Amino acid sequence: MKILRFNQGRLGISDGIKVVDVSHLFGVTPDAWPPVGINRLIRDFGAHRAQFEALLKSEPGVPLASVHLETPVPWPNKLMAYPVNYHDHAKEMASKGLANVQGYFLKANSSLSGPQDDIELPALAGREVHHECEIALIIGKEGRQILPEQALDYVFGYACLLDMTIRGKEERVFRKSYDTFTPVGPWIVTADEIADPGNIDMKLWVNDELRQQANTRDLIVDIRNMVSIASSASTLYPGDVIATGTPAGVDKVLPGDVVTIEVANVGRMSLPVVQGSRGANIVFEKPYEFVRAS
Ligand code: MN
Repeated sequence: MKILRFNQGRLGISDGIKVVDVSHLFGVTPDAWPPVGINRLIRDFGAHRAQFEALLKSEPGVPLASVHLETPVPWPNKLMAYPVNYHDHAKEMASKGLANVQGYFLKANSSLSGPQDDIELPALAGREVHHECEIALIIGKEGRQILPEQALDYVFGYACLLDMTIRGKEERVFRKSYDTFTPVGPWIVTADEIADPGNIDMKLWVNDELRQQANTRDLIVDIRNMVSIASSASTLYPGDVIATGTPAGVDKVLPGDVVTIEVANVGRMSLPVVQGSRGANIVFEKPYEFVRAS
């Protein structure tokens, strides 16, 4: 089942063809703030699953293609991300800061954006903004010190995620936290639809050029262990998002580009890149040249 947010904060369920609005079941009104109805839907999904399946059979809904899709979880308790987590990307970055020796870092929740939003480049002359093609894990239930063998019980679903990044040596959190730097979508696919989390293909194109492709079998820290490691430090909550790391092929995006990400059996989304006028500050005044290790 696909779980999504649409048309200014409404909650929807979808079979891939139509959307049935379930906002009222979770007390979601268009002016609700903060927008955490989806967190409740995720927490209570087990109790609603049969009802949702019945609604998808009985209700006409509206065509999925007709709605404006928004980021699935706009106010998670945490947006966690693993650094270099594929060996080929470690090589191109000449990086020793691998996921298995660093653990997770955080991005600002406000960097989350939706599958039909633009990626806004900050006005930072002399800096490259790179795409990182990633899979998002959406946590489904609260837990601490979760064993790897039980970790998949805590994964509610999967989504496409772009971890946009200003290259440089400044604080990673700051370089990755600009508004629109974490597009997630186009929806959440519930975990039961992913037969083997250790075998998920993903691809990323800029315009028509294939820039990144990988399979989760090539992860340094796999999905079970990412959940386990994160939960050893932090209580995980329904709606928490984990960005699982990117493979080789990161590169800059320019205004006018369209970035497309596809995760097999999850979905595909295409986002235009636009030049913004905001974002300059003294931190990024010094130019930085990105040199790919060979
Ligand atoms: Mn990343």
